[in-house]
Amino acid sequence: MISLKRPSEIEAMRAAGRIVAEAHALVKGLIRPGITTGELDRAVEDLFVQRGAQPLFKGVPGKVPFPAVCCISVNDEVVHGIPGDRVLCEGDLVKVDTGCRLDGWCGDSAWSYPVGEVSPVCQRLMEVGQKNLELAIAEMGRKRRWSEVARLMEAEVRQAGFSVVEQFVGHGIGRRMHEDPQVPNFVGRDWLRQDFEIVPGLVLAIEPMVNAGTKEVKILADHWTVATRDKLPSVHFEHTVAMTERGPQVLTDGT
Ligand code: MG
Ligand code: MG
Repeated sequence: MISLKRPSEIEAMRAAGRIVAEAHALVKGLIRPGITTGELDRAVEDLFVQRGAQPLFKGVPGKVPFPAVCCISVNDEVVHGIPGDRVLCEGDLVKVDTGCRLDGWCGDSAWSYPVGEVSPVCQRLMEVGQKNLELAIAEMGRKRRWSEVARLMEAEVRQAGFSVVEQFVGHGIGRRMHEDPQVPNFVGRDWLRQDFEIVPGLVLAIEPMVNAGTKEVKILADHWTVATRDKLPSVHFEHTVAMTERGPQVLTDGT
């Protein structure tokens, strides 16, 4: 069941979203060749402690509980990478996904960052991924149903010659990180049954994942990291977005 949020609740979510935006600004400033993904994660964890925010990702149940406050996925890793000793190198493409809860309300956002100068394909992939998220946010204010937005998202990625990950999708968000509905970045026959109306009070984590090669992904031996099967790079961009009477409002961009 989809729970719609009141304007005051959306403002409370924005407060959580601001801390998530701060985490991204912090990470963006730290990313450079030589830093480890574990160091980035610790910086975000310290920030959450300072702000009195509760990390959403640490301890998420799985075969092993997720051990960090960020998912950090590099190059062919799509999402859910575990931060650790990996040293970032010039040319790497790093995806950082993090979320926190403040006063009972959640924010969730992911971004893709270049380490130094990346290949032309990675550069283009980043542009297409970011544009795809921006398209979704804008169209959320123009369309009646999510499937109409997802259809445009899918078409844009295909037109760029890339592919949309189908195994992982966005989600509703509120008091819990993962709420109904599921929010696909494509239109599939199975998904149309779960289609939903875009109405004021709806709050979604919209998160296109775009692969340079095929859409196929696999889960690595650490039980978490999702990587492309063809080892080609992938990008991930995510914002928590509220639909309001005045149109879509991004809650995790620091405004
Ligand atoms: Mg996320
Ligand atoms: Mg999410």
